[in-house]
Amino acid sequence: KDNIAKETTVAKIKVVVRKRPLNKKELTRKEEDIVTVCDNALTVHEPKLKVDLTAYVEKHEFCFDAVLDEHVANDEVYRVTVEPIIPTIFQRTKATCFAYGQTGSGKTFTMKPLPLRAVEDLLRLLHQPLYRSQIFKLWLSYFEIYGGKLFDLLCDRKKLCMREDGRQQVCIVGLQEFEVSDVQIVKEYIEKGNSARSTGSTGANEESSRSHAILQLVVKKHSEVKDTRRNNDGNEAKSGKVMGKISFIDLAGSERGADTTDNDRQTRIEGAEINKSLLALKECIRALDNDQIHIPFRGSKLTEVLRDSFVGNSRTVMISCISPNAGSCEHTLNTLRYADRVK
Ligand code: ADP
Ligand code: MG
Repeated sequence: KDNIAKETTVAKIKVVVRKRPLNKKELTRKEEDIVTVCDNALTVHEPKLKVDLTAYVEKHEFCFDAVLDEHVANDEVYRVTVEPIIPTIFQRTKATCFAYGQTGSGKTFTMKPLPLRAVEDLLRLLHQPLYRSQIFKLWLSYFEIYGGKLFDLLCDRKKLCMREDGRQQVCIVGLQEFEVSDVQIVKEYIEKGNSARSTGSTGANEESSRSHAILQLVVKKHSEVKDTRRNNDGNEAKSGKVMGKISFIDLAGSERGADTTDNDRQTRIEGAEINKSLLALKECIRALDNDQIHIPFRGSKLTEVLRDSFVGNSRTVMISCISPNAGSCEHTLNTLRYADRVK
């Protein structure tokens, strides 16, 4: 009821940091926890066994829109990050929620439950009297960007290509969209998509850290019941008019962008692509924040795909995931600096 009034108070860009707890391995190694959280600020302490932090970074105190410590559960993460955006999806907003951080910092752990909660809330809104008189439907797609190429995670990793429709709408040709009418099916799609994520030639699951996974929920308005029933060939989704959407993006491990000196040529190419896309993403969000007319989305495949989420009515949430252990100090500081620059 008061959802619409709330909309205007939802920040355009929100940067949240999430610290994970020390894991079993780190605890057995008696690794030090070097991150202290206090309200929406955090401090990275100098690890006892390491050289002076100031050698590679001037700053180790940071302030963000919110800092979530190791005791914060996924439900609370949802409440802080995605929940406030949900009502805006019905006002033609394109929203994006990113998880940024080094491999092992908790990106997938953080992102996995978010679309489920979002679907719950979106379906509840769809069933409100305000929207019930029209035919709104919720559609889900899940794809991956790996080495600058697009693959459908819900359709045997079918290779996809992107097209602009001239009206600043991005169209991913051949991407399968599935209608979502309950939460359980979303769980299954996420499981299916996650197991289809890139495993590379080694078959090692850690290869998924070299890809960006993008799950999109799109609210569409369909003109007539008859109309949507007519084409049962999977093209139904195309017939609707996009109202708004939200994209959940589990980014490639931020440390992968430094793979540009690796011995393996393929790894180097992928590293360069990741580096390029994370830099382009930062530039786009900064441009968005400054209300710049020109958004440099052409910098990478990732930002091109998200092009329509960087123009017009948009909302961006960046969840920066950090590991607390002393051994991750450098990566943690890099992640915090990135988040700091975005804001
Ligand atoms: P990433 O996707 O960034 O590589 P993961 O999400 O796979 O990292 O997390 C690495 C490991 O840490 C996983 O076993 C995950 O369950 C665990 N983990 C991450 N964040 C948390 C957290 N906030 N609380 C408890 N365990 C976590
Ligand atoms: Mg992951």
